[in-house]
Amino acid sequence: MEIAQVGNPILRQKSQEVKDINNPEIQSLIDTLIRTAQEANGVGIAAPQISQSYRIFIVASRPNVRYPYAPLMEPTAMVNPKIIAHSEEIIKDWEGCLSVCGKRGLVPRSKQIEVEYYTREGVFKKEVFTDFVARIIQHELDHLDGILFTDRITNQEDLYPEEEFKQLMENV
Ligand code: ZN
Repeated sequence: MEIAQVGNPILRQKSQEVKDINNPEIQSLIDTLIRTAQEANGVGIAAPQISQSYRIFIVASRPNVRYPYAPLMEPTAMVNPKIIAHSEEIIKDWEGCLSVCGKRGLVPRSKQIEVEYYTREGVFKKEVFTDFVARIIQHELDHLDGILFTDRITNQEDLYPEEEFKQLMENV
């Protein structure tokens, strides 16, 4: 599955709400998103990234260099998600994006968020997420509103070429 890259107008559109989660096309889109995230080794992916302008994303946290204690999750679909509350505390940490190749950046995000969403089975959920998982959700939810992580970077010095990021990580 081709992943839309920065410059593609689909990444800048506001995605539409899903009206019927049980629709086979929506279910198949969710399967494709999960597969694409796994193949691309991503911890999240949003429907607009595969050129489907719907309010759906996948979260698939797993432990990594920056977050050795990040939870290992089954890829989870969130449909029509909304952040209904967030902590005052903002944390800057590393992000990359399957649609913004070759760049990493330090992005400010709320440490904790409360999210309402529907599961792929159509079950309504309200949950609190913190740290890495909260960061993934904020990043993916931005995709549904046409926002990229590079837009959230307040200081251009916080944006790094991938190579430089790798060197920094090796020296941690
Ligand atoms: Zn992204």
